[in-house]
Amino acid sequence: VYIADIKTMVTRLPLENAWADARKTVSHIELVVVDVTTDTGLVGTGISHSSGVGALAIESLVKDYLGPSLIGKSISPRALWEYGWDYLHDEGGGGVTTMALAALDIAFWDVVAKDLGRPLVDLLGRVRDRVPVYGSGINLGMSIDELLDQVDGWVGRGYKAVKVKVGKDDLEEDVERIAKVRERIGALPLMVDANQKWSAPEAARRIHALERFGLLWVEEPMLADDIEGQCRLRSQVSIPLAMGENVYTPWQFRDLIVGGAMDFVQADIGRVGGITPWLDIAALARTYNRPMAPHFMLELSADLLCCVPNGYIAEDIAGGSLTDLGALATSRTVVDGYLYASESPGHGLEFDRSKLLACRVGGEPV
Ligand SMILES: [Mg+2]
Repeated sequence: VYIADIKTMVTRLPLENAWADARKTVSHIELVVVDVTTDTGLVGTGISHSSGVGALAIESLVKDYLGPSLIGKSISPRALWEYGWDYLHDEGGGGVTTMALAALDIAFWDVVAKDLGRPLVDLLGRVRDRVPVYGSGINLGMSIDELLDQVDGWVGRGYKAVKVKVGKDDLEEDVERIAKVRERIGALPLMVDANQKWSAPEAARRIHALERFGLLWVEEPMLADDIEGQCRLRSQVSIPLAMGENVYTPWQFRDLIVGGAMDFVQADIGRVGGITPWLDIAALARTYNRPMAPHFMLELSADLLCCVPNGYIAEDIAGGSLTDLGALATSRTVVDGYLYASESPGHGLEFDRSKLLACRVGGEPV
């Protein structure tokens, strides 16, 4: 099948409650939605996301540059990914370029699976039918009572682990919050996320202060760009480190994994460039016995976790799943702490088009 048409739009979906972490606040999630129509009349849909900044630039790379050059090409996702990455590489090997590629790549895989009439999970190679999910809160701005209420909600719904933010200016405040959460959840796995806030010496000191809480991981203690610094930090602390949401290329993942800094691999399907490179990163991680715990994109991440042997756990950011954002016509529900693979042809994400259009920015009026 061949690409006959590519349509794009940007939608800006408001969060029910604004997010606050150690470095910023977020009020909207932007989605770049790409529909690829084939010469046989199939339509595949892909998305990319931003935390409120950049979606129009990402859309433009698809709509004004890469997209027109793809018309008439055969839909083979890996070949098209290589072509597209090469096409955009002068604008950066990772970042907005890979975010543009992601929306296309997801749409291409959707087309191929629909063409075969099979769920994406079976096309890629199912190794399990469901994945455990953890509750993840962007909750640094919450009071301790609000934080404990959020945690209670996850525990009550059977989530398999809980992650909360750290990065208060006052270390004692972080320690107090984590102590309260640990007390509330008992032995349930607990993770913390510093969103790249700390300097190298501060990161080591702060992590040592959290050691007594038996944390599964500390996430992004330092600037994600500082690969050497993360590797050195890992040799100074006893808690495993998780990162990957601000890492964009397989080569960067390689250096962080080989250097020992990345115990849990949090590759974000949207930021790394879609399903194709995400699977490469998962295979790389597997050779170092590193579990995949992808950032964000709950519904699609869960399906990919069903397709790799080292799939570990999916992240349900409160308010941030496509279901929570109201982007889907058919919601995907976490059941007893698990998300089940979609059994519909393609990736199975059916978008609520009227909602997307109601929140649309830029582009032609509809
Ligand atoms: Mg994070």
